[in-house]
Amino acid sequence: MKGYSFLSLARHALGGHKGWPVVWRSPEPKKNYDVVIIGAGGHGLATAYYLAKNHRMKNIAVLEKGWLGGGNTGRNTQITRSNYYWPQSAAFFDHSLKLYEGLSRELNFNVMLSQRGLLNLAHSHHELEVMRRWANAIQINKIDAEVLTPIEVKKLVPLINLDCRFPVHGGFIQHRGGISRHDAVVWGYARAASAYGVDIIQQCEVSGFNIRSGRVTGVNTTRGTIGADKIGIAVAGHTSELARMAGFRVPVTSMPLQAMVSEPIKPCLNTVVMSPVIHMYVSQSDRGELVFGGGADVYNSYAQRGGIPLLQEITASLVELFPAFSRLRLMRQWAGIVDITPDTSPLMGRTPVQNLYISGGWGTGGYKAIPAGGDTMAYTIANDRPHPLIEDFSLERFESGALIDEGAASGVSH
Ligand SMILES: Cc1cc2nc3c(=O)[nH]c(=O)nc-3n(C[C@H](O)[C@H](O)[C@H](O)COP(=O)(O)OP(=O)(O)OC[C@H]3O[C@@H](n4cnc5c(N)ncnc54)[C@H](O)[C@@H]3O)c2cc1C
Repeated sequence: MKGYSFLSLARHALGGHKGWPVVWRSPEPKKNYDVVIIGAGGHGLATAYYLAKNHRMKNIAVLEKGWLGGGNTGRNTQITRSNYYWPQSAAFFDHSLKLYEGLSRELNFNVMLSQRGLLNLAHSHHELEVMRRWANAIQINKIDAEVLTPIEVKKLVPLINLDCRFPVHGGFIQHRGGISRHDAVVWGYARAASAYGVDIIQQCEVSGFNIRSGRVTGVNTTRGTIGADKIGIAVAGHTSELARMAGFRVPVTSMPLQAMVSEPIKPCLNTVVMSPVIHMYVSQSDRGELVFGGGADVYNSYAQRGGIPLLQEITASLVELFPAFSRLRLMRQWAGIVDITPDTSPLMGRTPVQNLYISGGWGTGGYKAIPAGGDTMAYTIANDRPHPLIEDFSLERFESGALIDEGAASGVSH
């Protein structure tokens, strides 16, 4: 892989930047692979990368029906954090945050991680008490969390209106939380995986599985049949569709989740602010745009749009917390289809079909999980046994009832 360094930048600048090699190859699909991963979002690409790098597997393909990163990974609001309540979630998501902290170096690609802190606001005494308990649980899990008074909140976010409809009583912050650049995460993993020999095949939709005696042997695609010893599904909002093709059901609801950006302004917000009650979260991108969103639209859909009522509600919430932003123009709005499980925790591991694995149920919060999701799924696929960090996230928990309820940790409703 050609290194991206200051020297190589300077050298290529002299040549008018015309000599850069392609960032990833676009090969024709082979007839057979050792491992096929379906979905070239962050999770699919990271899984392929760690399979090649950590487990030295060589014959791997990632099949993508559209374009690389065109799903939720390229549509999200980029929040990275590990402030989860349950120990299983905390261990998994903090592993991910630690991998994020070294990711630019690991991939030799700047993912622009900015650990500017993620602040959750409390709008009543009771909510603050619940947040204290949450922050305490996070600290017990050895993750940073600090409870803030209203004065401390105002100091951190001077533009905030503490006396809004539901006055702000305080909040808690994870200082290591923040944002990173989602396209860079996808491109960085794609480039590094391709350099290890992974075939990334775009415009290749999987339409069915070949299963013999309970064991998967390949996929049917718009570019022909492709054989594989092992197959991983990483298709986010289409998880239940792919599971149905393989003959089993998953408890997943697919809904649109919207986000939007304002016109760019000078730096004025240096923290990610999240309010579960006013129902909105916001950060400022490096380009100066305010990036904000809220809860999922409350209907099932595969259309990547989202409706006007929720857009209005989220925008009204932004203006309520930050009256100064009422003068800004909305520049863009979009949506992705998120795959939500009953306990809002991911579904990871083996499936009822032998050698078929699943990484889904990421819902509204799977971007922050990409490095750990890739790392642990690669282990699971390579060894045909769940990585210790994801044992509790298996499909079986919906039979046993051992749910890991993290609905409150998302900070928004779904
Ligand atoms: C508006 C919005 C805001 C969000 N904000 C955050 C946030 O701030 N922080 C956070 O942690 N998470 C956030 N999320 C959630 C996060 O984006 C997702 O959980 C995560 O990106 C899922 O990654 P993935 O790789 O599993 O899926 P995706 O990136 O969606 O990739 C799946 C890929 O599979 C492909 N595919 C589907 N079906 C097939 C098929 N049959 N054959 C071949 N390919 C197929 C799709 O085209 C797609 O490219 C947000 C999501 C949205 C929509």
